[in-house]
Amino acid sequence: MLDAILIFLMGLALIGLTGITFSFLVSSFREKEDRATLFGGIQFVFFFGSLVLFTLSYANGFLETAPGRMLLIVLSAFTAAGTWLLFNKNGENAKALAGTAGLIVGEVERFDERETVFARDNLQIGTDAYKEMYGEHPEWEERDTRRRAMGGVVGEMGAIDKPKGNANFSAAIASMLMPEYLCAPHIIRPMNFRGDTIDINPEEATLRVKGFARKLGADLVGVARINPLWTYSHRGMDGSQQGEEWGQALEVSHGYVIVLATEMAFDLVQTSPHTSGTIETARNYAEGAGISIRLAQFIANLGYSATAEHLRHYQSLLVPMAVDAGLGEVGRHGYLITKELGPRLRLAGVTTDLPLVPDKPVDIGVDDFCVRCEKCSDCCPSRSIPSGAPEAVNGTLRWKLNPETCHDYWAKVGTDCNICMRVCPFSHDRSLPHKVITEAVTRNKNARRLFLYMDDLFYGRKPKAKSAPGWASYAS
Ligand code: SF4
Ligand code: SF4
Repeated sequence: MLDAILIFLMGLALIGLTGITFSFLVSSFREKEDRATLFGGIQFVFFFGSLVLFTLSYANGFLETAPGRMLLIVLSAFTAAGTWLLFNKNGENAKALAGTAGLIVGEVERFDERETVFARDNLQIGTDAYKEMYGEHPEWEERDTRRRAMGGVVGEMGAIDKPKGNANFSAAIASMLMPEYLCAPHIIRPMNFRGDTIDINPEEATLRVKGFARKLGADLVGVARINPLWTYSHRGMDGSQQGEEWGQALEVSHGYVIVLATEMAFDLVQTSPHTSGTIETARNYAEGAGISIRLAQFIANLGYSATAEHLRHYQSLLVPMAVDAGLGEVGRHGYLITKELGPRLRLAGVTTDLPLVPDKPVDIGVDDFCVRCEKCSDCCPSRSIPSGAPEAVNGTLRWKLNPETCHDYWAKVGTDCNICMRVCPFSHDRSLPHKVITEAVTRNKNARRLFLYMDDLFYGRKPKAKSAPGWASYAS
């Protein structure tokens, strides 16, 4: 009886491993990953050969002999031990499960939107705003002036891909205009077209809001109570379309935020820092804007106050809010990393006073993985991502990306770079083998060590950008 069970389980394990390695071989070949294809081929041949040998041993009765039984027991024990060592859930990371509260180590000052590189980029020489900003921060003036002379945050658009970059940037701008169209005050803060308030309990409201957001195209949706620390203190971007002035104090009166994530396409992210990658960044901002304004309108029609958060109107820092909404953890590169999409996503959101059921923060092993990995730090062309342990910055323990040097590089290449997103081991496509690996990595420390080593082996420590599909080609 024991023999029959072991033969069944071993057969099942070998069929599973053969299938996964075949799937890995095919997806690596499609992605033009030469080393991953080679190693995937070796793995497939090994497991397929093992399956054939196992089947022959069973068919000719070898597994019923004493040596055959012994071999079966050893192989079964080895397989069970390997599975346990890679998939057993380690003790939970209490820091991650506390969400952003787990990162706070001191007093946190709310972030001022005026200080972002994007807002500073818009300042006109000689204006009061200009004088105020550089009066307080003279250390930024020279660098900002140089960046403005290059054309601003993305410099000469598509410079890295001249002349093909012009066509790709035209596509990117076509999407970038969408948030611009969707930022008028009555769109950002919609009115109730029905006129009355619908009696709805938090459970049903959450079900409906999340379901509608997904139907509108959000790939991930989470809800959090708003922590005011993660809202901007002052307006810095051009708020004229919403009737907001530079320097105006901002307060969010709502108690809840719905955070939405849309997936950035793997094939385009893999082309970063080229203009084809920027097409996908812009497309996601357009998607996020479209989803957030319709979701805000839906909530307004239920009779509650709601404000859309998208590229042309942020009041919230959506990455920490996404952490509190249980979508993922923050990586060394500063992007949100989720179990489902890694960092290959863009965020939008809606703040509201509609009572909802908040989600809980998650522990998916990012903290531990990033401590060992440092791949984004090694690959960043402007050395903007720190190596080593996280440090206390503005009362929070985290890795602090240098936005000044990062955006200098953007201005140089004329795109939004995204190399750190492309090389991150969590960014792989969502084929079956990568889903299995992600499951192991989010549960287990041994898996993090093994698969980090394998990621370097299969894809290289500094993977190169891939070519784009013909319609988004950047090669001249
Ligand atoms: S976007 Fe590019 S320059 Fe900026 S941190 Fe990432 S890799 Fe570095
Ligand atoms: S590349 Fe590595 S260190 Fe950087 S965010 Fe991704 S997992 Fe973390």
